[in-house]
Amino acid sequence: MYIAIEGIDTAGKSTQIQKLKENFPDAIITKEPGATAIGKEIREIVLSAKAQSKKAEFLLFLADRAEHIKEVVEPNLDKMIISDRSAVSGVAYALIQGEISETAIVHLNRFATGGIYPQKVFLLKLTKEELEYRLSQKELDGIELRGSEYLLSIQDAIIKATELLNLELVTIDATNSIEDITKEILKNIE
Ligand code: C5P
Repeated sequence: MYIAIEGIDTAGKSTQIQKLKENFPDAIITKEPGATAIGKEIREIVLSAKAQSKKAEFLLFLADRAEHIKEVVEPNLDKMIISDRSAVSGVAYALIQGEISETAIVHLNRFATGGIYPQKVFLLKLTKEELEYRLSQKELDGIELRGSEYLLSIQDAIIKATELLNLELVTIDATNSIEDITKEILKNIE
């Protein structure tokens, strides 16, 4: 089973991935962008350089995705695969950028993934109040976090992306305790 954990920055994806790893020691734990050798280089580029062209940025994320599916996901589809982000993030960010049509975004993702998508997508969903509190408390790995309005628009776009890709979405209240969130995810996987 291939599942993806999605959510905006500060939603707690990494923490939940860590908890799931403890619960499924044999699972393949992976992420986008940056799970493969080429993907690590692409991640460096997209997170450090500001592309002039949003299309170029989109294509770099897609190249990472194509490599990730080919190298990590496809050969392990008979195992449990838990991914921090997926095509869903790629589609969501591209929808918000607004430079590429919905049809092209979906077709190009299909081209990159060969139609291999997560069987279940968990969205760790934050409220505006909780997001603003978390943003005021932390800065992620030196990455300057974007504003709450932008992040909330990405959160809405994640929902829209699962609809466009026709994927099963499980929405989890990310304001709950870490333990409760893990329990809810586990219950749903079983
Ligand atoms: O979650 P992770 O640390 O891997 O993401 C790194 C950054 O890349 C995040 O700040 C996220 O907003 C951004 N990102 C993006 N487009 C994507 C996926 C992630 O801009 N498709």
